[in-house]
Amino acid sequence: PKNADESAAIVEELNQTFDVSLAQMKNISEQLKKEMQKGLNQEGATVAMLPTFVSGRPTGEEKGRYLALDLGGTFLRVCEVDLCGNKEFKIQQKKYKVPLTLKEGDFRDLCDFIAECLDNFIAELNATGSILSSSLSSDANVATAAGSSSNNSTHDISSGSSNNGVEPSPIEKYQLGFTFSFPLFQTDINRGVLKQWTKGYSCTNSVHEDVVEMLQDAFLRKQVPVNIAAIVNDAVGTLMALAYSVPETALGVILGTGTNACYYEKIKDIKKWDGGETLNDEMVVNTEWGAFDCERLVLPLTVHDRKVDRESLRPRQQMFEKMISGMYLGEISRNVILHLIDRQIIFDGYSSNDFNKQHSFDTAYMSSIELDNSPDLQETRHILEDVLSIPSTSLMDRQLVKSVCEIVGRRAARLSACGIAAVLKQSNLVTSGCTIGIDGSLFEHYPCFEANMMQALKDMFGPYISYKVKFSLARDGSGLGAAIVAMLAHKNS
Ligand code: ADP
Repeated sequence: PKNADESAAIVEELNQTFDVSLAQMKNISEQLKKEMQKGLNQEGATVAMLPTFVSGRPTGEEKGRYLALDLGGTFLRVCEVDLCGNKEFKIQQKKYKVPLTLKEGDFRDLCDFIAECLDNFIAELNATGSILSSSLSSDANVATAAGSSSNNSTHDISSGSSNNGVEPSPIEKYQLGFTFSFPLFQTDINRGVLKQWTKGYSCTNSVHEDVVEMLQDAFLRKQVPVNIAAIVNDAVGTLMALAYSVPETALGVILGTGTNACYYEKIKDIKKWDGGETLNDEMVVNTEWGAFDCERLVLPLTVHDRKVDRESLRPRQQMFEKMISGMYLGEISRNVILHLIDRQIIFDGYSSNDFNKQHSFDTAYMSSIELDNSPDLQETRHILEDVLSIPSTSLMDRQLVKSVCEIVGRRAARLSACGIAAVLKQSNLVTSGCTIGIDGSLFEHYPCFEANMMQALKDMFGPYISYKVKFSLARDGSGLGAAIVAMLAHKNS
C-alpha cells in the first residue's frame, strides 16, 4: 500500500467482504439444521447424516489391546492401542507418508500399500515387544503426532520398552479399527461403500465399492493376520477418544485437512434408519457437514471462494469445507493476495512463479504469519520472500498479508461455529451443555481459531454458552477412538 490510509481502506474492504454477520450466522446454522433433518429423513441428502453403527458410549473402563489404522489426508498412521481401564490407555504408532501417486491411482494399490505398512508395523512390534512400560492417562496425550518428517515413516512410541510383567498377546488376536475419513455408506460396523473421495484423493476402482472388503482382501493377499472389526470415521473416532476420559463428550469435530462432525442422535429421529434392532436407543451420526450448501444458497461466497472452488478437484462440492478447512484456507488467502497484487496494491505489483502455483500458500503459513509479532514481521518476510520468492515486500505489505490471514481465518472459525451451533440445537444441548472433542491441525495450531469459534457461539447464544460448552483437543481420535470402536464391535459380535 502507498500509505497507512490506503492500507486501512483495504483492510476495511476485506473485513466487509469476509464478514459473517450475526444474522448470517443464525441463518446458516438454521439452514444447516434443516439440511441435517433432511439427511436424517432420507438417503441422498446434501448433508448425508450417515448412521455409523456405533451405538454405545465408552465408560473408560474398557480393556484390551487393539490395532488401528488411520488413512488421513497426508499420512497413514498405524497404531497399537492398549486400553487399560480407569480412563487410561497406552498407544504406540508409526506414520507412513502416502505417496501422491497412490492417492490418485488404483485403490487396490493403495490397499496393498496399507497392508505392507501394517505388516511392517506388526513385524516391528513382534521384534521389540508390544508392551509399553509407562502408564499414562489419556489426558497426557501420549500419542502425539510425530511432527514433520521428511522420512517416509516416523516412529513414535510413548516411552519405555519393558513389558511391565504382562505377556504380549499373539498378534493374531488383534482386531483392527480402520479410521477412514471419507464419506461412506455403511451397512454394518465393518462394512462401508465409498460414496466419493475428498481431500485430494481420487483413487480409481473404489467409489461404490466396499472399502473394508477390499482392504481385508489386501491383508489376505499379503498374509497380514488382522481382522478389520470396524470402519470408523475420524470425527467418530474423535468423539469416542475423548468420551473414554470425559463422559460428557457429545460431539466430535474435525478441523484439519477437511472438516466434519458427528454426534449422538436418537434412533427414533433417524427416520431413514432401517438397520433393525440396536443395543441402544441412540447412535452416532456422521453429519458429513463439509458438503453443506453445495446449492450455494446461504454461504457468503466471495469471488475468491468461487475461484478456489472452480479450480478444485471437485467443483461445486464440499462448499462448507472449502470455506473452513486447512486444505483451502491458504488457497483462499493466496487468491486474495494475488488480487491485491493485480490491483498494484501489494509487492509493487509483482508475484512469483512459486506464489502463482495453486496451493503454494499452505494454511500453516497463515498460522506462522498470525503468530509473527516481531516489529518488522520478519517471519512473514521470510515466508513471502525466502520461501515463496516474492521479489520484495514492504512492512505495510506484510501487515496487509497478516490482515488477510486473520480475516480469512476468522471467517472460517465463525462458520465452524455455525456448524457446531446447528448440531447443538439439533441435539438439544444448548441449555444442558456438553464437551466437544475436536481434532485437527487447524484447531490445534491456528492462533485464535478456538477463541474466534467461542466468540461466534457467544454472539449466537449469549455469553453464558462458554460455561456450558467446552472445546477439548482430542488428539488420539484416529488411534484410541478407532480402537474403542473396534472393541465395542468385537464385544458385540
Ligand atoms: P488430517 O486432517 O489430514 O488428518 P491435520 O489435522 O494435521 O491432518 O490437518 C492438516 C491440514 O492442516 C493441512 O491442510 C495443513 O495445511 C493444515 N495445517 C498444518 N499445520 C497447520 C498449522 N500450524 N496451522 C494451521 N493449519 C495447519
